[in-house]
Amino acid sequence: MFQYFLNIPLINSTFKYIAEVNNNVYLVLNLIPITYHPSPITSNLPFASRFSFSYFYAHAMTKTSLKGLTLKELEDFAISIGEKKFRGKQLFDWLYTKEASTFAEMTSISKGLHTKLASIAQINSLKLIEQQVSREDGTTKFLFELADGNRIESVLIPPRTAFQSPNASGEEEQKRLTLCVSTQVGCPLDCTFCATATMGFLRNLTVGEIVDQVLQAKKISGRRVTNLVYMGMGEPLMNYENVMKSIEIITTGMGIAARRITVSTAGWVPKIRQMGDENRKVKLAVSLHTLDDDVRTQLMPINKKFPVDELLGAVHYYYSKTKRRVTFEYILFDGLNDRHEDIERLIKLSKRIPCKVNIIPFHSIDFTHPTGFSAQLHPTPQKRMDEFVRRLREAHLTVFVRSSAGEDIDAACGQLAVKVEQRHSTGKPPVSPKPRTPNLQPV
Ligand code: SF4
Repeated sequence: MFQYFLNIPLINSTFKYIAEVNNNVYLVLNLIPITYHPSPITSNLPFASRFSFSYFYAHAMTKTSLKGLTLKELEDFAISIGEKKFRGKQLFDWLYTKEASTFAEMTSISKGLHTKLASIAQINSLKLIEQQVSREDGTTKFLFELADGNRIESVLIPPRTAFQSPNASGEEEQKRLTLCVSTQVGCPLDCTFCATATMGFLRNLTVGEIVDQVLQAKKISGRRVTNLVYMGMGEPLMNYENVMKSIEIITTGMGIAARRITVSTAGWVPKIRQMGDENRKVKLAVSLHTLDDDVRTQLMPINKKFPVDELLGAVHYYYSKTKRRVTFEYILFDGLNDRHEDIERLIKLSKRIPCKVNIIPFHSIDFTHPTGFSAQLHPTPQKRMDEFVRRLREAHLTVFVRSSAGEDIDAACGQLAVKVEQRHSTGKPPVSPKPRTPNLQPV
């Protein structure tokens, strides 16, 4: 598409044309006229032909993507384009509070400014590719496509299905709607029980791509998201700056308090310490899964870099700085981390670090055709899981149990993205470990 940007041809001014290369990058052609030839010879020529151009140059220009900019950044942007600072606040409100997805929706901004903004800035949105809704509990999984064609997932978890505490009740609990967001495309950490890991790592998500998961989930579901967990695809603390910036936008512009946001890590030790130093107000969850170094290294290769002692040292440091209880996530695997000694280790840990424990049933990833250690992983039988929880509670630990939220859909991290990818590459449906009856919503 060729777009005429400056249409007043004046001597010694620049003719500027902008050609769109893709949906974000523009090639700018600048034509510099230096001589005007007003002679009888040129008088019969069209006006434009009476100029000779000494040179032209071209450079690439990227339209500024506004979604993902903080209030301060939007104010700076407004000033940089010759507008008043308060325009930045107006843009912030329209983007995040009023959830505008086009400049035309911004009715408090003049049409002239709409045009100006449209020529130099853009509002990117995620594209919904597929949506699965659990018939059992309404858990909803979204598969979104990014501007570069990569795909990520977000999961909307209704009240009373995320984690069941022994005393969960009350009006607040009923209104809770939790969104699980992704922070990377794929993940570099290669946990053996995780479907996302089979994708490898492609890139970090931008701030705008993280924030837009919340905006799109609200728009599609028509419901207010009350809680957020950074627990989808990717390791959030390896995308630290973008994650923290997205939290700043969400807490200041989208009405979700920091205490309702949980950042989950597989154990990226330096950033756990940094979160403690910065006294971030969000909650921290650590995917622990075992306190046995050998078993943890097999489950989570990150344990080679940051073994259990080092991880717990960082978590202890975080607690000493923030005085906020950490949540340990614990997926139960049959015969691997559900033994008597595992219970004893967890009880001992709770005496050292004030914490809560989330027990999570294992979602099989058989459809990825795992080999080696991954192929040996099986869910702990329900009876042993109940016993595990009972004994922890008897020892006065605060224990939550994730219900089988969305078990009839591909609700575990990365399952839907990997399955859709398999479907596209083979043309066949992926192998599923058990019959599923998802309520597929046409998009
Ligand atoms: S479990 Fe989390 S950290 Fe581990 S590979 Fe999967 S997405 Fe990455």
